[in-house]
Amino acid sequence: MPVRLPFRPRRDAYPADLWTKCPGCAEMLFNKQLDKSLRVCPHCGHHFRIPARTRVAQLIDSGSFAERDGNLQPVDSLAFVDLKAYPDRLLAAQLSTGLRDAAIWGPGTMGGRPVALCVMDFFFIGGSMGPVVGEKITRAGEYALAERVPLIIVSASGGARMQEGTYSLMQLVKTMGIVERVKAARIPYISVMTDPTTGGVFASFAVAGDVNLAEPNALIRFAGDRVSAGTIGEELPVVPRAEFWLSHGFVDRVVPRAQLRDEIIAILSMLIPPSVGGQAESAAPPLARGRSILSAITGALGADNSGESRAVEAGQSRGENSNG
Ligand SMILES: [Zn+2]
Repeated sequence: MPVRLPFRPRRDAYPADLWTKCPGCAEMLFNKQLDKSLRVCPHCGHHFRIPARTRVAQLIDSGSFAERDGNLQPVDSLAFVDLKAYPDRLLAAQLSTGLRDAAIWGPGTMGGRPVALCVMDFFFIGGSMGPVVGEKITRAGEYALAERVPLIIVSASGGARMQEGTYSLMQLVKTMGIVERVKAARIPYISVMTDPTTGGVFASFAVAGDVNLAEPNALIRFAGDRVSAGTIGEELPVVPRAEFWLSHGFVDRVVPRAQLRDEIIAILSMLIPPSVGGQAESAAPPLARGRSILSAITGALGADNSGESRAVEAGQSRGENSNG
């Protein structure tokens, strides 16, 4: 006969599906509450990483997003095996995230204005960029070009995907190619860097936006501590986070998640003249390139909304003489 203990085992830990411990302030947060606050800690403002679909839902007008190329599937062209075989790693990531690869893209509207939105998912093999992610960014850019709508890319990535080797590295060139074509056509490209944006994604399209936004305290850098220390022979003095890049000019605005959607809509309304109804016409290019438009935008955002049209005009008239 089995021995019956008089007491149940004590529950030391909170059930994982109900509570999350904040890494910023060690507070135990009720998951439902955390979801209501867009997965930002109400006590210390720590921004938790969020899946791509959650991000899309937070940014886009409700029901307007139509995912494209959701069936693009990575292939194991190198027969790569590290601790696991690459196909096994892919399958595990696909089952846990419900995605085929680490990015989703599609057309949608923000504040009623059509956009092409591509969002990376860090929970899929560290948001790493292989040929499928590169292709999705490219197709989002090509759509933006064809339809003349703004391109918005939200990055969350550890960099290029090592399991696809050189094919992944080629995505740096490919994504920069489409981003440059979008910019040359004077279509707005807004890059949003979230925690983390590192490696090949940092080294290519993520910091190449007409406007580069970042979430507070997001880790943004090219190489990790070990690689940096091995290269320059000493430890880096600071962990480069969003605020560091803001103070050095790589990032234009650090925007808390709760304000991100409104901020992007405000920037789009400044970059695109209202006279063309939200769609940029090739006869009347909406965008001046380079830093001058950024100073115009940040100046206007800092002041009041009445500066909108003046800011765009000022940017256009000064747009030719700055590139550096
Ligand atoms: Zn916290």
